[in-house]
Amino acid sequence: MILILLGPPGAGKGTQAKLLAAALAVPHISTGDMFRDHKARGTEIGKRVQAIMDAGGLVTDEITNAMVEERLARADVATGCILDGYPRTVGQAVFLDGLLARLGRPLGKVVSYEVSEAALVERIGGRRSCASCGAVYHVTQQPPRQAGRCDKDGAALVLREDDKPENVRKRMQEYATKTAPLKAYYQARGQVVEVDGLGEPAVILAATRQLLGR
Ligand code: AMP
Ligand code: ZN
Repeated sequence: MILILLGPPGAGKGTQAKLLAAALAVPHISTGDMFRDHKARGTEIGKRVQAIMDAGGLVTDEITNAMVEERLARADVATGCILDGYPRTVGQAVFLDGLLARLGRPLGKVVSYEVSEAALVERIGGRRSCASCGAVYHVTQQPPRQAGRCDKDGAALVLREDDKPENVRKRMQEYATKTAPLKAYYQARGQVVEVDGLGEPAVILAATRQLLGR
């Protein structure tokens, strides 16, 4: 089953996507991770998206849709997948509808993580990422064993460029104007389940699975 995770920056969508993917044994497809990987490898796509990503803007639908189309064509998504950070605009949602129709794959549910704005600011402000492997921590909610160092490889933890305050504001704006309308788009088809995004990741995962019946 193909699931879409929807939620503003800082809602814990990425963490839930990984947990859900492991629990349901399907691939976790994060367009943000794919773009960061392109950037790190210095590919043509990476060069085209670098500046816009760092500033907290959205990559064009054209580039994003093409990347997703290629990913969904691979064999490992035959049993389903978790879409994390895609679609992000109504244009992408319309494209995805067409793509899934062509592939003969139904869209399952759309999970919407509900979190207050105050909690989002607190979460993103405390977020730190490993400069080497990209693992994500939080200074108080999910601290590494040794302050400022990644548990996995000991590399320095940094504030991601797009987690800097001015860029977070831009991401919030992009979310409010371009992504938030997706909830109504899917609600009109009765596909949305709402989950309280505040709390322990394991508790949120359990609540989500209960709502999905999986
Ligand atoms: P994320 O890790 O999901 O927050 O994504 C990081 C950044 O990648 C975003 O701020 C955008 O610049 C870009 N990005 C990720 N997914 C998309 C998408 N579906 N459409 C446009 N830009 C995206
Ligand atoms: Zn690391």
